[in-house]
Amino acid sequence: MFESLSERLDSAFKLLKGEGRISEINVASTVKEIRRALVDADVNYKIAKEFTDRVKDKALGEKVITAISPSQLMVKIVKDELADLMGGTAAELELKANPTIILIAGLQGSGKTTFSGKLANFLKSKGKKPLLVAADIYRPAAIDQLKVLGGQIEVPVYSEPENKNAVQITENALREAKQNNNNVIIIDTAGRLAVDEAMMAEVANIRKAVQPQEILFVVDSMTGQDAVNTAKAFNDRLDFTGVVLTKLDGDTRGGAALTIKYTVEKPIKFVSMGEKLDTLDVFYPERMAQRILGMGDITTLVERAQAQFNEEQAKKLEKKIRQNQFDFDDFREQLQQIKKMGNLKDLMGMIPGVGKAIKDIDISDDAFKGIEAMIGSMTPQERGNPDIIDGSRRKRIAKGAGKEIQDVNQFMKQFEQMRQMMKMMNKMGAGGKGLKALG
Ligand code: GDP
Repeated sequence: MFESLSERLDSAFKLLKGEGRISEINVASTVKEIRRALVDADVNYKIAKEFTDRVKDKALGEKVITAISPSQLMVKIVKDELADLMGGTAAELELKANPTIILIAGLQGSGKTTFSGKLANFLKSKGKKPLLVAADIYRPAAIDQLKVLGGQIEVPVYSEPENKNAVQITENALREAKQNNNNVIIIDTAGRLAVDEAMMAEVANIRKAVQPQEILFVVDSMTGQDAVNTAKAFNDRLDFTGVVLTKLDGDTRGGAALTIKYTVEKPIKFVSMGEKLDTLDVFYPERMAQRILGMGDITTLVERAQAQFNEEQAKKLEKKIRQNQFDFDDFREQLQQIKKMGNLKDLMGMIPGVGKAIKDIDISDDAFKGIEAMIGSMTPQERGNPDIIDGSRRKRIAKGAGKEIQDVNQFMKQFEQMRQMMKMMNKMGAGGKGLKALG
């Protein structure tokens, strides 16, 4: 995400390396470089200029603190300004009303339907009982797509494929929601390829009829300045309550994320980073600024892990590790949990400093495929008792997984090392109070 911008900002800060303090002269070249980096990231020149003027004023106004180098100070100032530009604090969804009605609008292909599914999934995990409404009356495929998504996350989808009146459909959906006690209603509307009066009028009519608490405008972040212009057009007509930036997992330069809030004065509420239904993140300007500056985002990483955390499973695992019984079933379960947390490269990029180090390395989501194939070709007995896996079993496992015997040997060796490490930790811990008490 925003790799090129991150890199360019980094080189701008490097211009201050070796300087004892910030001065009019040395700050000028740094600020100029930051401005160029922003413009190349598709930030409008005026916004970039205002941004760097503020950075410069702040940098020159800072008291000289000897403990902090000028480049560190600059990183801090730019981080704060980036966070400010993107909205300062996080903006939460307004979910007090029962039912809460959320209208989703945006151009066709922006990711509205996918986001509707993700949002339903997100709210369901927070204990809500959502109903998805397919209000796209032009593309039957859109209705089917929403139904498939709804099926995957077990959220009901209301649709009337024969009805060509979107307002009527949504009104009927509200009635249905009341009967079924759905407390959040997510309405996926039709989009067009470009901003178009008929489309706007239709969404505006739905809005008037159902009075939503939230109107979320979905926009593809890959479209850069166009995204900002589209946002302006939609906001003029719909006065939406928040923005959803999609496809942030792609090769986007960053302009949309950085300037939408400034341009329409509406907060970004969510960012979507992939086609999987659990790759939706609440947008936190501060964390995003940290990520852009290569400081990682441990908070989001921990939250993703927590979302997958299952207390019962964790207790079971802890017990098995303690009794030196960690086996291939446990290992596979752990891999699956990690995969559920999202794209691997994206996850690693949240660790401070790692994003930059791995930016040119291709880390595919299939990284675990070989290991999974090997575990998959073990018998349940072998998975539960790794010690019985002898030479002939290894040969069979390699064949079943389409791997070489050396691959299986290496994997078994790594697995064994992992178990040794766990054993050692158990021994070390046995003297400690906590584990002793547990037996
Ligand atoms: P709609 O026409 O606005 O409803 O857009 P869709 O939800 O159908 O999305 C259009 C395409 O973009 C589909 O192929 C989606 O799978 C894809 N898509 C949606 N959100 C994301 C995202 O966050 N990342 C990526 N990589 N693809 C996405």
